[in-house]
Amino acid sequence: MTSERQQALKLALQAAHADYIAANPASAERHRQRLARMPGGNTRTVLHYAPFPLTFVRGEGVMLWSADGRRYTDFLGEFTAGLYGHSHPRIRQVLKDTLDQGLSFGGCNLYEDRFAALMAERFRSVELIRFTNSGTEANLLAVATAVAVTGRRKVLVFKGGYHGSVFQFMGAGSPMNAPYEFLLGSYNDLDATRDLIASQGETLAAILVEPMLGAGGCIPGSRPFLGLLREEASRAGAILIFDEVMTSRLAPGGLQSVHQIVPDLTTFGKYLGGGLSFGAFGGRRAIMQRFDPARPDFLMHAGTFNNNVLSLAAGLVGLHEVFTPEAVLALNELGERLRARLNALFSEHGVALQATGCGSLMTVHAMRGAIRTPADLAAADPLAAELLFFDLLAAGFWIARRGFIVVSLPTTAADCERLISALATIIGRRAPLLQGMTERT
Ligand code: PMP
Repeated sequence: MTSERQQALKLALQAAHADYIAANPASAERHRQRLARMPGGNTRTVLHYAPFPLTFVRGEGVMLWSADGRRYTDFLGEFTAGLYGHSHPRIRQVLKDTLDQGLSFGGCNLYEDRFAALMAERFRSVELIRFTNSGTEANLLAVATAVAVTGRRKVLVFKGGYHGSVFQFMGAGSPMNAPYEFLLGSYNDLDATRDLIASQGETLAAILVEPMLGAGGCIPGSRPFLGLLREEASRAGAILIFDEVMTSRLAPGGLQSVHQIVPDLTTFGKYLGGGLSFGAFGGRRAIMQRFDPARPDFLMHAGTFNNNVLSLAAGLVGLHEVFTPEAVLALNELGERLRARLNALFSEHGVALQATGCGSLMTVHAMRGAIRTPADLAAADPLAAELLFFDLLAAGFWIARRGFIVVSLPTTAADCERLISALATIIGRRAPLLQGMTERT
């Protein structure tokens, strides 16, 4: 029975692929052209999916237009970096004004001090901060700082974690990971984590953790788990690094404020550059002070574009004027409501789908049963998730191929209702195929 359903799913997916190919000839052509000089036609692995990814030509507010002239409601929000949408008037204005003053001074500018002060005001763990160009770079710098400051090399990370393309711990991991001595922990598993840390004695430099696994499937870290990491890091003399590259938008003070946990270092990125490339790492004065070039033992951290005026100006105005604490709360309430509505829809139809996450970030998983840790996702049906993705594309909704859905500032409650009703239609049509890999228990 189950294998019959899998067979039917495969056929449905083949038909969905055929429709997709027929509907998107211009994107197919761009993909062919990219293939000539880019491996797999790609410069950003996460954007690839078979048979070929869409190419976009324009964005406005919450809408996107593809090279094929099709219009999509953007429920991906550039993997959380596109918080302000594609054409926020205030962000556009500040970018124009900044351009008018000229680019690339090769010197300090008027934005760094104010941005640093605002970050410290928002995020409690940040006493001192430095800017980078991406979240990956922020994590590289934070881990390198921990290694330099502690004189140790081991770094505890968690299966299912993602901290950038050289810190990839999903699935089988990556042979390209930065050459630290990584220990792989089990997310949300208190006993195993306590034992693993205790067995390391005083050799652990850092614990690097996302307070909610983002790319790993929007699995929130439990308060006891994150609290345990805080206690054990202090006990072991290790530096606790919260990767809030994605999660800092989930509350005015980031997820650390929700859990009332103060990490030693926090890394940031994504939307904080106002939609431009950005990263930052900051934390305890005693640690960050080491970057003071006036010290005899100072740590070196250079980077041509660390203080690039466009990212800093857009990010500063965005955080100060647009993504105010009130706006943070409203956005995440809208996301909470959407996730609740999705789960209500799924259970009403009795399909093996569920949305996990927090606030404005969620992932739809094609499975039943509790999802506490990435290992639980082994029960998910990859074909059902893929079919849902192509059905949503056909209905004009852009989400991540992995089922990641993001509510951004231009997203309205009406947009959420349109998504729900598109999904209701899809599920109505596909319900027999969406019953999961095993029979309902
Ligand atoms: N950390 C987390 C939690 C992320 O989600 C990402 C990006 N998806 C990164 C780090 C890397 O950031 P960037 O893509 O800006 O290098």
